[in-house]
Amino acid sequence: MIDRRREIGCPVQCGELLPSIDEMYSIFPATAELEELFKVDSSVVAGRNTKLEMVSPGNRAYEIDFSSMALNRTAFDKHLVRLAQAAGARLSEGVSLLSIANGIAKTTMGGIKAKVIVGADGPFSLTAREASLSRPGLRYPAITCQGEGRFDPCVKMFFGPVAPGGYAWIIPKNEGANIGLGFKSEVYRLKPSEALAKFTSSIGVEFSSPSLGFVPMSGPVRSSVAGNIVLVGDAAGHVMPSNGGGIPTAMIAGREAGRVISEHLAGRCSLYEYERRWRQLIGGPLRNSLRTRRLADIAFPSNMLLGLSMRLLGTRGLDRAIRCKPLFL
Ligand SMILES: Cc1cc2nc3c(=O)[nH]c(=O)nc-3n(C[C@H](O)[C@H](O)[C@H](O)COP(=O)(O)OP(=O)(O)OC[C@H]3O[C@@H](n4cnc5c(N)ncnc54)[C@H](O)[C@@H]3O)c2cc1C
Repeated sequence: MIDRRREIGCPVQCGELLPSIDEMYSIFPATAELEELFKVDSSVVAGRNTKLEMVSPGNRAYEIDFSSMALNRTAFDKHLVRLAQAAGARLSEGVSLLSIANGIAKTTMGGIKAKVIVGADGPFSLTAREASLSRPGLRYPAITCQGEGRFDPCVKMFFGPVAPGGYAWIIPKNEGANIGLGFKSEVYRLKPSEALAKFTSSIGVEFSSPSLGFVPMSGPVRSSVAGNIVLVGDAAGHVMPSNGGGIPTAMIAGREAGRVISEHLAGRCSLYEYERRWRQLIGGPLRNSLRTRRLADIAFPSNMLLGLSMRLLGTRGLDRAIRCKPLFL
């Protein structure tokens, strides 16, 4: 594994929310063995929340039961690396991919010849570009920080002018909270850092470590395999567009990529089997989630329409939206 970051998991570009395993089964009913995949060491869990509240532009709150963990994302990423290393992987930090040609990845530490190359290089994936695969078409800027203070154990999502086309969040931890927002840049000209400062001051919270990232919001890319190249995570558009969460999808599909590559190297299947399997496991919920985001786009430009839509959907409808179910039965 190579990563251009000097230290894996730093800076944190994430809300650090991971749904509980039960919630993940409810979102992705076709999946199995999630207990094994998400065996999360308690040292990387920074808090637990049992509720989620969605707040409309008119300040009306809709509360649902939703159990989740607030991770220490840096520690979580390092924990994953340790698991990979224990299974024989090697990681070189501070190394960038430059290009790929004839099965050789040219990097800042020289060429790497690989039987299979996995592009886990995020929404602007150079691997995808080098493989002539399409990249996520729509990416929302999202900024996050660590907020100080004590917070009720309830995840909060604020919709409306605070983050047009997206939402602002408070994800409580045992100490402090992850606070941030993501929005549609075409409709909101404010700089993400200014929007964050405005939001944190409106809730009276001091913050540190702001960090900007991008969230793919256009659903899975058309094809995630080309030749001996496989895309996973944000590079493959594996993010739920109705809530911006990508850790569960990256890990569920990522494990499948690992399995297929191992079977492929043993001569038992083509790499394209990966595409078939992730579609079967997470394709349906991602499709529903994308439909919800597109419907929400109709309401987002008007605070009145957005408030009215949330009122019409009610707690049950909003619960379905968050859980990537079809909005209307
Ligand atoms: C602000 C924000 C908040 C979010 N909040 C949540 C949340 O609360 N819950 C959730 O489930 N999801 C959240 N997400 C999404 C989630 O973080 C990602 O979907 C998930 O981490 C999977 O990302 P990834 O590993 O595929 O890509 P990334 O996290 O983008 O990682 C890509 C890696 O590739 C490396 N890289 C890129 N290009 C090169 C190159 N040329 N050479 C070498 N290395 C390279 C980068 O350094 C990076 O380490 C959030 C995203 C953002 C931006």
